[in-house]
Amino acid sequence: MRTVDDRGEDHISWCPSGDAHRPESLVLGVRSGEKGQVVYLDEPVPAADVLSSIPEGIAPNRVLRFASHCTSACANRVGDDCSLIQRIQTLPSPQETGAVPRCHLRPRCKWWNQTGVDACHRCPALATLNSADDRLAALVADPATTIEQLEHWIAAAE
Ligand code: SF4
Repeated sequence: MRTVDDRGEDHISWCPSGDAHRPESLVLGVRSGEKGQVVYLDEPVPAADVLSSIPEGIAPNRVLRFASHCTSACANRVGDDCSLIQRIQTLPSPQETGAVPRCHLRPRCKWWNQTGVDACHRCPALATLNSADDRLAALVADPATTIEQLEHWIAAAE
């Protein structure tokens, strides 16, 4: 699939769980409400434009989600694939699987291009894992966690 942005980056996949501090980083959405679900911005905003307004002591990704280039140096990269979204897909499916949110990143999103619409259903809730299920969130985030280990943990927790 050809992906193009307004800077002509027609070959670069973007990570929807990106690093706020990379030069290309964009604000993908705002964490909102009690569960911290992501509300996506209609238009990309450079991360550099907003980082200075986040109070000191608050990690930027606690209040915002960022998108940055998917790089081969990422610990979650396995060949051309992202193992993070594979681990996320091991979690029980979200109850709401209606229309996916509008998202400016989708055409160039690594997760969308790898897994399709399932990633878009799971993406907004990613923030909720951080606070409500810290152990599970840690396992999902750890590149060393295998799918089998996750399945075992989930089965034991049921
Ligand atoms: S491999 Fe996954 S987590 Fe890593 S940068 Fe790419 S999309 Fe993001």
